[in-house]
Order: sequence, then C-alpha cells, then structure tokens
Amino acid sequence: MASVPCAVCGQPITRRPPNATRPRHMTCPRCRYMIYDYPRSASGLLVVKRGHVLLLERAHAPRAGYLDVPGGFVEANESLEGAARRELREETGLTLGRAEWLGFYWDTYFIRGFGRFPVMNFYFAGQWRLGEPRAADDAASASWVPLASLPRLRRRFAWAHMTPLLRDLTRWARRG
Ligand SMILES: [Zn+2]
Repeated sequence: MASVPCAVCGQPITRRPPNATRPRHMTCPRCRYMIYDYPRSASGLLVVKRGHVLLLERAHAPRAGYLDVPGGFVEANESLEGAARRELREETGLTLGRAEWLGFYWDTYFIRGFGRFPVMNFYFAGQWRLGEPRAADDAASASWVPLASLPRLRRRFAWAHMTPLLRDLTRWARRG
C-alpha cells in the first residue's frame, strides 16, 4: 500500500478506508495529524471544428499512448474556466474565444507511490476559430478526430469519464 510522508512530522502514513463516522482519511501514527482524502479538481476545454474534436495522445504515464482531452488539474486561485484555457494553451498552443459550460464528470486518477484518488472533472466546449494545434507538454500528438468515429475509439480513451463526456459533446456539437 502506497504511503506519503506526514505533512507535520514526516512519518510515512497510509490511507484508511471510510468508516461509519469518517470519510476516507490519513492519520499519522506518530503525531496523530489527520487529513481527509478529498477529491482533486480538474478542468478541460473541448474544441470542435466542423464535426471533429481536438484530441491528444498521451506522451507520459499514466496511460501513455491513450487518447486524452485537453485539460488538467486546477491550480490554487485559478477559475475553472481559466484552468481549462491554460491547459489548452499549454498542451496544444490554441486559444479560444467564447466557451460554454459542458458538464461535470467524476473519475479517479492514479499517481505511483501515492495511490488512487477521486477527481472532479469540469468541462467547457467551444468552436474552433483559428490556429493550428501543435502538441506540447503532456501530449505526444494533437489531432482532429471525427465525432462520428468516437464510439469506435472507446477502448483507446485514457479515462472512463471520456465516454459520457464525448457523448455529451457530440450532442452539444449537433445543437450547433
Ligand atoms: Zn505526523
């Protein structure tokens, strides 16, 4: 079982499962410092261009080689939409004009040596206007994938929440 150092005294601590009175948490066996295991927040921006969506191929673990959507963890003091725009810029070089709220999706994420934790994924969507995407940062490649081909690509999705997310995006794109 993965452990992390106690934030107060440095003693390695592991997660405890939830019980009747407490959600999942970590308690330090030495100094008794306790933190709850709250979810992290991630935010993404999906770009649609004439029946296609901009998808990335992951360059690094976890899920290297799988298809991903532009997005990432929200940093302290960032707005959800601000984080989504920053990630799109960092990963593809694109900036976008108007973006609309698309939806919210639960998932989990895994970091080696730390373990699995819940993630709240927030998404926005917008129509492409200008600029050619070029993959950078965590992405090995960025390409325009036909919305109609998404059901066939499900097994290549990096994350479980991409299935309902891209289904909702396809509906959003049809609405125009
Ligand atoms: Zn401690």
